[in-house]
Amino acid sequence: MSDFLTSERLPGLIQAAYIVAAILFIAALAGLSKHETARRGNTFGMAGMALALGATLVLAARNSQYGDQRPLAVTLVLIVVAMAIGAVIGARRARTVEMTGMPELVAMLHSFVGIAAVLVGFNSYLEANHGDGHLEGSLGTIHDVEVFLGVFIGAVTFTGSIVAYLKLSAKMTSKPLTLPGRHLLNLGILVTSALLLAWFVPVEGDLGLVPLIAMTALALLLGFHLVAAIGGGDMPVVVSMLNSYSGWAAAAAGFMLSNDLLIIVGSLVGSSGAILSYIMCKAMNRSFVSVIAGGFGSDGAVSGEDRDYGEHREIQADEVAELLAHASSVVITPGYGMAVAQAQYPVAEMTKKLRDKGVEVRFGIHPVAGRLPGHMNVLLAEAKVPYDIVLEMDEVNDDFPDTDVVLVIGANDTVNPAALEEPGSPIAGMPVLEVWNAKDVVVFKRSMATGYAGVQNPLFFKDNTQMLFGDAKDKVNEIVAALG
Ligand code: NDP
Repeated sequence: MSDFLTSERLPGLIQAAYIVAAILFIAALAGLSKHETARRGNTFGMAGMALALGATLVLAARNSQYGDQRPLAVTLVLIVVAMAIGAVIGARRARTVEMTGMPELVAMLHSFVGIAAVLVGFNSYLEANHGDGHLEGSLGTIHDVEVFLGVFIGAVTFTGSIVAYLKLSAKMTSKPLTLPGRHLLNLGILVTSALLLAWFVPVEGDLGLVPLIAMTALALLLGFHLVAAIGGGDMPVVVSMLNSYSGWAAAAAGFMLSNDLLIIVGSLVGSSGAILSYIMCKAMNRSFVSVIAGGFGSDGAVSGEDRDYGEHREIQADEVAELLAHASSVVITPGYGMAVAQAQYPVAEMTKKLRDKGVEVRFGIHPVAGRLPGHMNVLLAEAKVPYDIVLEMDEVNDDFPDTDVVLVIGANDTVNPAALEEPGSPIAGMPVLEVWNAKDVVVFKRSMATGYAGVQNPLFFKDNTQMLFGDAKDKVNEIVAALG
């Protein structure tokens, strides 16, 4: 065993394993980009992670042979126990989490990457000062900058993700926190951090901990403030942006630990998260810079809650069944409420019944419907709704004037005309599914409550809209029964 660990060929083998793992991660991302290949993509990802973990375990064992700080067995036991604890907690959470709870779980996991980068940074700094890893000259400067940036990104990711978790799990208001002079506050923190970096790099010994700790405190505050200032409707971009930050935090940790695989994986996550954020911003007609700078343009926003939109009309399930049976084209626009009610199975059954009767049924999916990118697509795929009738918002928006009935199942913000009609609204400018252009609209929800962005929805009061109150799953089941 010890011959194997001290063999000269081992570092090369570990590097080779890392390269294969990196290729598997890239193949995983490619696979995940399409429904049909997503399962294969996941398998590649799992294989890459298993290989990476195995190679890292061998690397840790080799390092402990050379470092001679503790016996090999102790190192291995410590790592395996830590992995076992993490694996048990992770497996339990993954099994028990509801699909609707995924966004907050993801936000929480991002916060772990953030805090890990902070701890790795401090450890790396202390080790360089007190251990035998001291670096001189420009190498020392590069290492200091790596530590400083890694801790900064990690700390912003940590508190930002915790605020995202609190907002997504409704433990904190989704309304933006708009402090006076908030952009100056953010700018002040950035400038002060840059000055602290200028102090940190040349300073020798433990005195460097002073600017490092001061910057960490400021970065924690910045992460909190940036995400607290973002309103409900813009949260999807924040989630993908924090995903990106967590990738860069991991890449920074990779530099500090001189681990090539961590650098590659962190960069993959960082850049794919940034691309996703850009796509989401385009889909929501938001400026990327405005969102990451914390809610530019949300000053003086009005939610329309106090406005009098008139009376709404109600409809019963059997009447909806009647309406559908006489329709020739139907579009279903699902939203977060369909996920909460787990209504996708009866929705799939209703779709099949209607199609068997010769009714054209299609789905219109808003890019931020639900609480995760692709949330609705996943649910509909799970219920085996054919992919070819599931359309993107842009593919279906022009067809509403020729549609007989639109069923809005648990969607609210994504079908809200206030986004187009009320310039002061927090969701102003966001493209929405223009369902009100159809002949009849039926909205499935339990009450007149607002959606995630906290904005009242004038759609509910339009002449061609009728409200079907109750749990979406129960109501769709009633319609299925009435369709016979
Ligand atoms: P919304 O969150 O705007 O509205 C969902 C509606 O579903 C609510 O009005 C609620 O009304 C209704 N509902 C809840 N439970 C049930 C149930 N059991 N049966 C029937 N209806 C139910 O949904 P949208 O999908 O339209 O919009 C998504 C929002 O989430 C957007 O603001 C988006 O920006 C935000 N977001 C999206 C993310 C993403 O990545 N997709 C991530 C983070 C936020 P009631 O209580 O009256 O039943």
